[in-house]
Amino acid sequence: MMKWVIGNWKMNGLSESLHEARSIGDGVGGWTGKVVSMICPPATLIARMTMHCAGTPLEFGGQDCHAKASGAHTGDIAAEMLSDAGARAVILGHSERRTDHGETNEEVRAKVDAAWRAALTPIVCVGEVEAERDAGRAEVVVEEQLAASLPDALPTQENEDLIVAYEPVWAIGTGRVPTEADIGAMHGQIRARLVKRYGEAGRRVPILYGGSMKPDNARAIMSIADVDGGLVGGASLKAESFLAIAKAA
Ligand code: 13P
Repeated sequence: MMKWVIGNWKMNGLSESLHEARSIGDGVGGWTGKVVSMICPPATLIARMTMHCAGTPLEFGGQDCHAKASGAHTGDIAAEMLSDAGARAVILGHSERRTDHGETNEEVRAKVDAAWRAALTPIVCVGEVEAERDAGRAEVVVEEQLAASLPDALPTQENEDLIVAYEPVWAIGTGRVPTEADIGAMHGQIRARLVKRYGEAGRRVPILYGGSMKPDNARAIMSIADVDGGLVGGASLKAESFLAIAKAA
């Protein structure tokens, strides 16, 4: 299966970042067909980055969307607006949104439907906090998040209906990563749940790992069974480290 390297820029990036994105776009060309490279910058930059990186294979996504297509929702952005700006995907249910904005599984599920309505690929994030892992509950927590955050059927049964990202919350921005065995066990479980839910189409849903992925651990992590790529935070902000991870994929 194709590998995915998706940079989540979070709340980082101004006009001056356009050249960094262009360097990434120019650098990833050699891996076309093997790796899909994408940046999810702040929404203010999507349209400009799309233009600035035209002619490169780099793709773009949003970091959140509202469930509705339009209306009186000050400060929110519709999936249709992301699509209109040049995005092809949108991150949904990231742990920072679940924490900072109290997003629930049910809201995430409504946003997945919104992404599909706007022809975007939803990148649905799940993952346990440290206390849940310590209590031996990581797999139960992730299973519950998947059950409640994902709609019952995939819209087209094609490859890019859905991406799932497993991001253990305690590994985000901390430099700590689960053991390869723990990552493998969780991704295997997620794959099994997707197949149970969606049949054979569940085998084609990319499952990304996220949380302190760096150039020096990317190859090992992305070689684990059912790890189809990475959702990368800090290391995606600079072309040098983004490209090193894409090369390792
Ligand atoms: P870091 O790669 O900075 O740990 O962030 C991971 C993440 O939250 C990606 O969505």
